[in-house]
Amino acid sequence: MNPLLVNAADLLRRPGSDRVLELTLPLAEIDVVDPARFVAGAEVAVRLKLESLSDGIVVVGELQTPWIGTCRRCLLPTSGVAVSDVHELYQRVVSATDAFEIVGDQLDLTPAVRELVMLDAPTTPLCRPDCAGLCPECGINRNDETCACVAPARDSRWAALEALGGLTGVGESGTGE
Ligand SMILES: [Zn+2]
Ligand SMILES: [Zn+2]
Repeated sequence: MNPLLVNAADLLRRPGSDRVLELTLPLAEIDVVDPARFVAGAEVAVRLKLESLSDGIVVVGELQTPWIGTCRRCLLPTSGVAVSDVHELYQRVVSATDAFEIVGDQLDLTPAVRELVMLDAPTTPLCRPDCAGLCPECGINRNDETCACVAPARDSRWAALEALGGLTGVGESGTGE
């Protein structure tokens, strides 16, 4: 029995009424199987409100889906929780674009939930927004260490002093000819 298949007969009889749907559901039960992004047994947390209107039922709320992956910059394992905003319209007679059909008195939330889970779990995640990544020269993780591979840009004030002859023996270019 799919808990995302909701009998909405009571809602449809009474426009203006609403109902809350809160549940957790193994991703495998909605055919979301992607070992690169979800651990086996991962569950989506569903918190939705179904509001009955004169011409259909609006479903609003949020999904939270734990994901796993490999940081695209530092290549370390990373994970997080994807939050999806849900805003869908279900109609007996579909008149709005993107509305789902109510068949019998049943709302099948499965396709919408599956689509949002697949869409919002990142495929090329970052371990954190400012991940510094790996040094392209020596491969160290710049989040943890620093290396001397890339010479720091020379401070322009030092260059100015040098030009004035205020510093000697600092440059590496020698005396020339
Ligand atoms: Zn990273
Ligand atoms: Zn380096």
